[in-house]
Amino acid sequence: MGIEEAPSGFLLTTIEDLVGYFRKGSLWPVTFGLACCAIEMMAAGAPRYDLSRFGMEVFRASPRQADLMIVAGRVSQKMAPVVRQVYDQMSEPKWVLSMGVCASSGGMFNNYAIVQGVDHVVPVDIYLTGCPPRPEMLINAILALHDQIQNSPLGVNRAEAAAAAEAAALEATPTSHMTGLLR
Ligand code: SF4
Repeated sequence: MGIEEAPSGFLLTTIEDLVGYFRKGSLWPVTFGLACCAIEMMAAGAPRYDLSRFGMEVFRASPRQADLMIVAGRVSQKMAPVVRQVYDQMSEPKWVLSMGVCASSGGMFNNYAIVQGVDHVVPVDIYLTGCPPRPEMLINAILALHDQIQNSPLGVNRAEAAAAAEAAALEATPTSHMTGLLR
C-alpha cells in the first residue's frame, strides 16, 4: 500500500520516540583511530560499505561536532588521557562504541602498557567483538546502537533507567572475582 492510499487522520507518537528517531539518524562519529581496527572502520566509511546510508558519512574532525566515539584499536596508557579529553569535548548526548577485543578488554596485549578495556577511561555503550571486526560487523554494531538510542528514555524516565542500571552494576560480580583463562 502506498502512502497515498493510507487512511488520512492523526499520526500519534511520543516525544521519546521522535527524539530517538532523529538522534539515531544523525549520529556523527569523531575522526579517531588508534590501531589496526581503524583500517576496518575507514573501510566501513568507504563506498563499498557506504556508512553514509545511515546518515554517518561525515567523520567530524572536531569532537565538538561529534556525538559518537568509535574506539578503534588498543588504548595505551599514554593515549588514555587523550581519549578522555576527546570524549569530554564531545557534545551531549554522546555514545561510545568499543571496537574489537583490544579496545574492549586489552585483547592479547595483557601487559602494563595497554589499558585493559577502554571502559576504564570512558563509559561504553556497546562492545564489538573480533580481531579485527569486519566492516559489516561494525555496521551491525552501529545498527544495534541505533536501537539503543531509539529506545532511550528521556527526562525522569532517563533518571530512573540510570538508577536501575547503576543498581544492577553494583549487584554484578566484580571482574576480579570472575575465573577466566588466566586462572
Ligand atoms: S582487535 Fe585486532 S585488529 Fe583491532 S586493534 Fe586489536 S589487534 Fe588490531
